[in-house]
Amino acid sequence: MRTPVIAGNWKMHKTAAEALSFVDEVKRTTLPADVEAVLCAPYLALPALAEATQGTDIGIGAQNVHWEEQGAYTGEVSVPMLKAAGVQYVIIGHSERRAYFAETDETVNKKTRAALDGGLTPIVCVGETLAEREADKTKEVVQTQVKAACAGLSSAEMKRTIIAYEPVWAIGTGKASTAADAEEVCAFIRKTVADLYDQQVANEVRIQYGGSVKPENIRSFMAEPNIDGALVGGAALKADSFIQLVQAA
Ligand code: PGA
Repeated sequence: MRTPVIAGNWKMHKTAAEALSFVDEVKRTTLPADVEAVLCAPYLALPALAEATQGTDIGIGAQNVHWEEQGAYTGEVSVPMLKAAGVQYVIIGHSERRAYFAETDETVNKKTRAALDGGLTPIVCVGETLAEREADKTKEVVQTQVKAACAGLSSAEMKRTIIAYEPVWAIGTGKASTAADAEEVCAFIRKTVADLYDQQVANEVRIQYGGSVKPENIRSFMAEPNIDGALVGGAALKADSFIQLVQAA
């Protein structure tokens, strides 16, 4: 049985103080124990969030990381720095980073490698653009991204990796994929993992859907056998909506 994971991706939203008031609100409710709830915040909010969630079941994630441990990389943050701040997860290769910050399959692989080496759980994002979907290239694109991201990972490392399937056209548009279409791609991703490793590894890997998930549609995604949670942007910015998402999962 795979534990569902609901991760909020705050993107470039929330100061440390705003993050703390969000967490205060979440801490006033009891979240279901059989769902992993994760908040992925801007770097500056991470130390305060990690401290405020100590002793709770809320996980904390970064939205990016550099693959080197230290060095002359102006503006970058490393895995050991995130670990020292109490972070447990990191989003890697989000489509916004691929589109605006020149992330490639190669940097995604390096970052995934570094996260696993340093004891962070990577949430690796893959997904096709609208043009790729319309050209019937969804599976080809997603398979290439998964293979590249996971190149060189051992079976044990693969099992620790979360894959987030996020069709680019569904992100922030209010136009979510249908649950059936998302299930088809998530099942295909699981098959890709089975082909690269074996069925047992594939059975354990968690695959999230992301792209305009909200409290109103989360149940339809969670009802699908190969969807193990969601990566949520806009609907994870308000505490009450994030709580509803975790409760519905
Ligand atoms: P959205 O973003 O839920 O606002 O569509 C999802 C994401 O980018 O991870």
